[in-house]
Amino acid sequence: MVNTCYIPKTLEEALKIRKETGAVPLAGGTDLMVAYKRGVGITPVFPFPVMIITQLDELKGIKVEEDGTVVIGALTTSVEIAKDERVPYFVRLAASKMGAVSLRNTATIGGNIGNSSPKGDLPQPLILLDATVVLQSLDNTREMKVDDFIIKAKKNQLAEDEIIVAVRIPKPDYTYGYYRKIGTRRANAISKLTLSSIMKVENGVITDFRASSGAAGPKVARSREVEKMLIGKPIFELSSFIEEFVEAWDGVISPHAMPEFRRATTKNMLRHFLSVCADQPEPGIIE
Ligand SMILES: Cc1cc2nc3c(=O)[nH]c(=O)nc-3n(C[C@H](O)[C@H](O)[C@H](O)COP(=O)(O)OP(=O)(O)OC[C@H]3O[C@@H](n4cnc5c(N)ncnc54)[C@H](O)[C@@H]3O)c2cc1C
Repeated sequence: MVNTCYIPKTLEEALKIRKETGAVPLAGGTDLMVAYKRGVGITPVFPFPVMIITQLDELKGIKVEEDGTVVIGALTTSVEIAKDERVPYFVRLAASKMGAVSLRNTATIGGNIGNSSPKGDLPQPLILLDATVVLQSLDNTREMKVDDFIIKAKKNQLAEDEIIVAVRIPKPDYTYGYYRKIGTRRANAISKLTLSSIMKVENGVITDFRASSGAAGPKVARSREVEKMLIGKPIFELSSFIEEFVEAWDGVISPHAMPEFRRATTKNMLRHFLSVCADQPEPGIIE
């Protein structure tokens, strides 16, 4: 069997190839090469044409727009994201905790979203922050929330002629923030469970609250309905709502493997964040 492989040099060339042949984009290859591996030292064989997109400069780099929106090119690696202080804290931290350093030098944000694994580290904070993904084809550019793009495990809305070109993250605005990743070991551990959350408090009232759980269901779990339970509440009354909220969040997640562990740990993380917020510490990240 022979691989059909294209190596476009520009985005336009890549989009033409994609439209004409349906070739599948290969960025860092850390998911795709592993999915089709045949053994140590043996080249994988793909049952479809592939397109190595690593030369597309249009998909590289990070920039900040006037309103503070951070735009991350799809080929940006986890190392590049982790070390760039313009990237919101939650996304930087998630990028810094992905696998081992060799992996982080290769794994791209476009690949992490394109792979759409519920255990992928980057979709979880991106969904918390209402980030969007920019999809381009030869004839069209469209943008949608990462939350809408990922439908379920390994299933997303990428059309056959599209390429992910960038991720856009609106400037976060919060009083308290929280991020935790629970893994079995640091090096090359895929997430067991992640949670991130933000709360904005203005004049003693909670005006925004969001949470997202990773690796606790077929996709990252976020529920605007349940989040609303805390919005509008005075912060000094928060402690009396924590248990009710935590139980409601338990209904948002749907872990398949080790459900008792995942449910209990998620509830403990939320309880911890909310009870620290209820004490009204200095604004910032809650450890
Ligand atoms: C040992 C090991 C440890 C790992 N640990 C972690 C971990 O801790 N956390 C984690 O989140 N992941 C982990 N992964 C998974 C993987 O490294 C990440 O998902 C990574 O971000 C994938 O990026 P990539 O560039 O290598 O993607 P690729 O393998 O190149 O592509 C992945 C998928 O996305 C598609 N794709 C890639 N780029 C684009 C684009 N621009 N437009 C459209 N589609 C695109 C591809 O067609 C493919 O379907 C691990 C993998 C391995 C092998």
